This record gives sequence, structure tokens and C-alpha cells, in this order.
Amino acid sequence: GDDLKPVGDALMSRYQSVPRVQEHYFRHPPQIERGWGAHLFDTEGRAYLDVVNNVAVIGHSHPAVTEAATSQLKLLNTNSRFVYEKLGSFAQQIVATMPPGSGLDQVFLVNSGSEATDLAMRLARTYTGRRDVICLEGAYHGITTASDEVSTTLNDNPRSRETRPPWIHLVPMPNMYRGAWTGDDAGSRYADKVRDKVQELQSADKLAHPWYGEPSNRGPAAFIAEPLSGNAGGVELPPGYLSQAYAAVRAAGGVCIADEVQVGYGRLGGTFWGFMEHGVTPDILTMAKAAGNGYPLGFVVTTKAIAEAMALDGSFFSSAGGGPVSCAVGSAVLSTVIKEELQANAEKVGAHLRTRLLELAKAHPQSVGFIHGHGLYMGVEIIEDAASKRPGTAQARAINDRLLELGVVCHATGDYSNVLKDDLLNGNFTVYETLKFTADLRLDRKLPASTMLALLNQVLSQMGLLHASNTIVGTPLKKGISGGERKRLCVAIELLMKSQLIFLDEPTSGLDSVNDLSLCTSLHHLSTSCTIV
Ligand code: PMP
Repeated sequence: GDDLKPVGDALMSRYQSVPRVQEHYFRHPPQIERGWGAHLFDTEGRAYLDVVNNVAVIGHSHPAVTEAATSQLKLLNTNSRFVYEKLGSFAQQIVATMPPGSGLDQVFLVNSGSEATDLAMRLARTYTGRRDVICLEGAYHGITTASDEVSTTLNDNPRSRETRPPWIHLVPMPNMYRGAWTGDDAGSRYADKVRDKVQELQSADKLAHPWYGEPSNRGPAAFIAEPLSGNAGGVELPPGYLSQAYAAVRAAGGVCIADEVQVGYGRLGGTFWGFMEHGVTPDILTMAKAAGNGYPLGFVVTTKAIAEAMALDGSFFSSAGGGPVSCAVGSAVLSTVIKEELQANAEKVGAHLRTRLLELAKAHPQSVGFIHGHGLYMGVEIIEDAASKRPGTAQARAINDRLLELGVVCHATGDYSNVLKDDLLNGNFTVYETLKFTADLRLDRKLPASTMLALLNQVLSQMGLLHASNTIVGTPLKKGISGGERKRLCVAIELLMKSQLIFLDEPTSGLDSVNDLSLCTSLHHLSTSCTIV
């Protein structure tokens, strides 16, 4: 309850018309005004490293998206049953990422992940003439009525498992830390639960709710799962699980839905789509979040046979879904993910991060229970103590609060809100001009401070943090800095410190409090003794 009442905070009084039930960064929500790459900046000019954003996959404010959206907005943005070039080309771009020969070549464009789940379930139901769906306990798939039916994360809704409609069937989340099975045979043991459920649905005298089709047409309409369970805490499915679950569902005439909303687009590192890690191909795939890099965009990919079955249940039209701007943005994002080789980056950086997190877990066995996930989707499971594995919910919250104080935006997830989600922006490590520039600098440790500052000015101007005429070099340091300029400089310096592009010799002279003195000290250090690392 306390979480939902960040009262007393003057800032929050401005948000009285936003329902309290809406999730925010609870305790002290920063008022964020801009983003760049892996960083967010609040209205006080403070920079935060965003390690949790699973939407801005190519980084905040990526110029490719800005450019695609603005130029298309100037031309046309409508969706009135016309066709336009970008609709076809974006759909083809998506299809090109599917496994060759998979038949996954039909793309429905929608506005969100919830809509994508909803549509996927509707397609499955129409195609099979059945209603019953099997889903994982503790998974999250969306907020619409249908997608909420298959969402049972206890931190979102503690009553979710008791309140499912009778046509929704839960099977255990194959959690290798908290689940019933954690050994080599875990994949098969958990898949047994899917097999049992399928059998139950086939052998029932009549379906719980024969909403569609004939009572003789028994069995599941669909099985829906993420290839790596995001909101459950980055929980990896054990080897063999998905292939056995898919086989059981298909043998009974059901279809398999892979929810790639959080983990698709190369985030897992090894493969572009999460399902590929498991050697399976779904019948229906859903995607959103990263697809628009923050712009509302989702899609469903399926086969012709399933797509055409939609006609049995009416036609498909979404007023804004698949509009020209959505397609332009979607296409720019997908091209950028590929061009900047973010999948390879996720694999490389994810492996490094995982190694470091495992070291942390080893050093703190009473506090860190498990490191879930891989690539750039990981969960650090915080516990009260190793013996009981009691979830460290309060501890995770305290860590998050402290991280925020230190300028790192992180979240806790999982049933008990005790898994710190390191769902890092791929953009953290991309070759933006800015970071490329840094890499160049790193090669040259002996770069004179004046050269570094000149380059710094250039980069900051490119980032829009500094107007070209407003350079750091030559700015009188002790006086004459206007409020706006000061703020921009603070942002720039803090950003550079956070990005570890510069190290100040005396950490105490950093930007703990943003005032002229600390700014001057920082600038002084920057210009005289900054170290390139
Ligand atoms: N599926 C998964 C796996 C998700 O994580 C989410 C959002 N957290 C959704 C679906 C719903 O997406 P949206 O918020 O875009 O409706």
C-alpha cells in the first residue's frame, strides 16, 4: 500500500489525475525529461544509467528513430485500408528474421504487446475451434482482458492464480532455483506437467467451456510461453522443455505461441528470437516493446493457414496499428538492431555481465540466491538467507532505492518482487557515434586534455546536450555560466562520469550536489587532470 502512495512528495501532487494503481518508480520517482543512449536525465539535470529498459532496445532518442518518425509524419500518417510501401517492406523485413522454411510469413501489425497476445490467442482459438489455453504460472502477457487471463505474476496480482477463468490452465513455471525440479531432467519433468494438462483437456467429458466448436473437438487451443520468462525474473527454461511442451500440444491439435515481447530482437545474444535457442518454431509469435523502441508498436507473425482462419471470426483492422509512422519507426529500429550488431553485442556484454554477477553471488551467498537469464536479460535473485531461500523483497527494494540515489535505474520483478532485473539496454554498448568516439579515445590514453575537450564538445553538441556555440572549452569556469548552461554542463559531465568516459581524480569533487562550486571543481579537473580510461 505504501508503494502506491508516494505522497508528501511535492512532485507527485502534479500527478493527481494519474491513477495511483498505475505503476511508477514508487518511492521517489524522478521526473524524467530526456534520454540518450543508455541514459535518462531528470528535470534537475541529473543523469541516470538505465539498466532496465526493455523498450528502448537501440537506446533512448536514437537518431534513426527520430528521423524515421519525423520524416514520415511530414508525409502521411493514417491507416484507412490503403496500402503504402512501408507496410509491405516492414512486414518483409520482419519475415526475413524468421527461420527459412518455417512458413511464418504473415504479419499483423498492432500497437502493443497486450494487443499482440490478445490477437495471438484469438487466432489460435479461431484456427483450432477451441478455447482452452495452457500457460505458465507466474508469466505476464498483457493488460487486455484476454492477455490478462494468461498473466499470473503474483507481484502484479496476488489473487491471479485463484481467479483464472475455467478455460485457462496453469502449468508450473520451470524455475531452476525455486521450482520443484532443478536437476538435469528438469526439462522433462516440467514438460510432464504440460503433457498431463493436455491429456486432461483431451479426456474431459466435455470442455469446461465449449465456447467454440464441437464438444468432440477436445484439447487445448494453444500453449503460450515466453522463451525466457521475463517478468518471472529472467527465468531460463531448462533444455528440452519447450520442444517437449510444443510436441505435446501439437500432437493434441493445439498451436504454440511464443511471446517474444521482452526477449526477442537479439536480446538473448545467441539467437535473434528466443524460441531459436530451444530448437523449436512456434506457430504464432508475438512482439512489441523493442519493436518500436518506445513508439507504440507490436506485431504477430504466423502462418498463412492460421492467418486466413481469422476470416472465420471477422476481418482484422487496427486504426493505428501498422500505420505509416509505425512502419517507418519499426523498420528503422529493426535495421538499426541489425546494423549495429546488437545481438552479437548482447552476447558479448551479457557473458561479461553474467560472469561478474556470478562473482557477486559467490561473494554474497546469503543475499544473492541465483543469477537468472543470459544475454542482456538477467535477473539477480535477492534472498533473506541461503538456507530458507526466503525472497529478499525488502532488501531488493532497498537496493533499488539506493541504486536510484546513485543514479542507476533498476527494477525488481518476479512473484515476490525480489529479482533485480538487469534487462540492460542493448543501446548501452552500441556503436553510437558517441561511444565509438569514446572507443577511439580509449585507444589513446595520452590524449592531451585540450584535444579531449574539443572532441567532447563535438560529441555533446551531437547529443544535443550542448549547443555548438556553447562549448566547454573557453567557457569561463568560475563565473558567467548561465543556469541553463550550468545544467547542461552538469548533465554532460555526469553522463560522462556514469559512462565511465572520464574519471575525475578526486571523486569527492564529483557532482553529489549540483551547485556552482562542484561544477567548477569538476570542470577544473576535467580540463586539467582528466584521465581517459
Ligand atoms: N508480453 C510480455 C512478455 C510482456 O513483458 C509485456 C509487457 N511487460 C506484454 C506482453 C505486454 O506488452 P504491452 O505492455 O506493450 O501491452
